[in-house]
Amino acid sequence: MSQDARVIACEIIAIGNELLIGDVQDTNTYWLIQQLTGLGGFVRRAQIVRDEFPAIADALHASLRAKSNLIITTGGLGPTADDLTLAAVAAALDLPIEEQPEAMAMLKRRYAELAATGWVAFAELNEARRKMGMFPRGALPLFNSVGGAPGALLRVNTSTIVCLPGVPPELVDIFTHSLAPHLREMFGDAAFVIRSLIVNCQDESALAEQLQEVVTRHPRVYIKSRAKRFGPDVRIGITLSASAPSEEAANQLVNAAQSDIEEMLKGLGFGWEVAG
Ligand code: ATP
Ligand code: MG
Repeated sequence: MSQDARVIACEIIAIGNELLIGDVQDTNTYWLIQQLTGLGGFVRRAQIVRDEFPAIADALHASLRAKSNLIITTGGLGPTADDLTLAAVAAALDLPIEEQPEAMAMLKRRYAELAATGWVAFAELNEARRKMGMFPRGALPLFNSVGGAPGALLRVNTSTIVCLPGVPPELVDIFTHSLAPHLREMFGDAAFVIRSLIVNCQDESALAEQLQEVVTRHPRVYIKSRAKRFGPDVRIGITLSASAPSEEAANQLVNAAQSDIEEMLKGLGFGWEVAG
């Protein structure tokens, strides 16, 4: 499926030195890609960069130059000095960084709760804690019900930049709760349907030409074939996926492409099963 004007172009920027020394595997990008694709978005690119101002600025500038509609960063929102995402985003956009009153109020409440339950020694917002409420001018806070640092949402021309924490449960919490109304506004009620056929055929090239004809007939369905296993019992998997304004419409698109592929397989004499 090629990108068309109605599709929301998305980019992900994963930020963290730990990701680039092989200490932590970047599962946040994987999760975000699944969510955004499921919403009907088109994920154009994902970048992994270090916790450094120029690296973050370069990545962000590239995403803005591409006029991506939604740019999500993950990581670097915490209290320590190496967590510098919001300051780097501000610097990259030439915006001042300043106290965001709602974010400060969220942090104040969170640390009061944590101190009351004995999880932290004191409730006051010291320098390190206040840092998490310093936002690029114009950014809105996104409440984090799992951890300390709120996320941030900032609109720049036609792009929306969303900064989320690196800790996976915090990322998931903000994405699924605080960000949900903004996502609905951007994506509407889009639905995504994906289905796979497993074909009893050893040779992908035996399908290639006719499959390409089906691909051409169904421009709104993404159709991809690949070998499922290697060796003598190799099978070819064909994945069909589509997004549309409703689940019914997405299913209709996939169904139409599926029946064309099934006709083709019958004609070629290959058996298949539908893998969901
Ligand atoms: P916090 O507010 O909790 O400090 P943070 O936004 O500062 O969060 P980081 O300090 O960048 O987050 O990362 C905290 C931890 O989250 C990392 O040590 C790592 O275990 C995990 N993490 C960070 N980025 C990713 C990622 N892209 N995929 C999976 N895990 C990640
Ligand atoms: Mg970090």
